[in-house]
Amino acid sequence: MTQEFHTTTRFQLGFQVFLAILVAISAVSAQAVEYLSGIEWPEPAVVTPGQKNSQPPSDAVVLFDGKDLSGWENGENWSVENGDAVAGNGTITSKAKFGDCQVHIEWSAPTPPQGEGQGRGNSGLFLMGTYEIQILDSYINKTYFDGQAGAIYKQTPPLVNAMRPPGKWNSYDIIWTRPRFGADGSLVSPAYITAIHNGILILNHFELQGNTPYSTPPSYTAHAERLPLTLQDHGNPVRFRNIWVRDLKPIVGKRVRPPYTRDGETGKETDLK
Ligand code: MG
Repeated sequence: MTQEFHTTTRFQLGFQVFLAILVAISAVSAQAVEYLSGIEWPEPAVVTPGQKNSQPPSDAVVLFDGKDLSGWENGENWSVENGDAVAGNGTITSKAKFGDCQVHIEWSAPTPPQGEGQGRGNSGLFLMGTYEIQILDSYINKTYFDGQAGAIYKQTPPLVNAMRPPGKWNSYDIIWTRPRFGADGSLVSPAYITAIHNGILILNHFELQGNTPYSTPPSYTAHAERLPLTLQDHGNPVRFRNIWVRDLKPIVGKRVRPPYTRDGETGKETDLK
């Protein structure tokens, strides 16, 4: 046993040394030639996250933090109960306007549930006041699929149904790319949306066909680069909390030379064609 143990140990040690040498060789060869893009990047801004991912990071515009709806037109006509905003008495419209943005919003369907289909826990978040991602109690509540929670209304169902039961909190984390219009009002590029419902991807860079009306096909009409968010009152006391938005700007680098490689040993730089 002892002899066998020692043999095994020596073999393992030998193998570990061999591995270490292999790693060292590959590290050196990885350093030998480095690819560089030739682009000078600005340093990404530091953003301090919230204590939890549901809480606003340092660069967010907070639209509702449990206190009041002063950030919304018509907000005074909704009620705030125990830190939750409760839908009622008309649609509310954010005073702040947004273009490309990241939206976090939490909502809870009324309990006990009342009504069925589109009549149960219906609200909706309208990006740019125009493009609705459906808010609905879709927990064991059948309706047309492109009208259930997480649908882009009348354009696509969500990829999956990630609903929590009535009374529990749902979250949407949304990445919104606004449509672009030419000076003549023509569509240059459509809107795109990515959405995560309760941590689950439900819309993956979905290309919108236009607005989201009930009785007419979707279409685009040129509009401003920044517009408010609206929250729908559909006659159901849906509750909301933790609503915040971040403006999204691309990080833009400056090309200072063509892509190139640098030899780690000689320092020789070679432009790539
Ligand atoms: Mg709705």
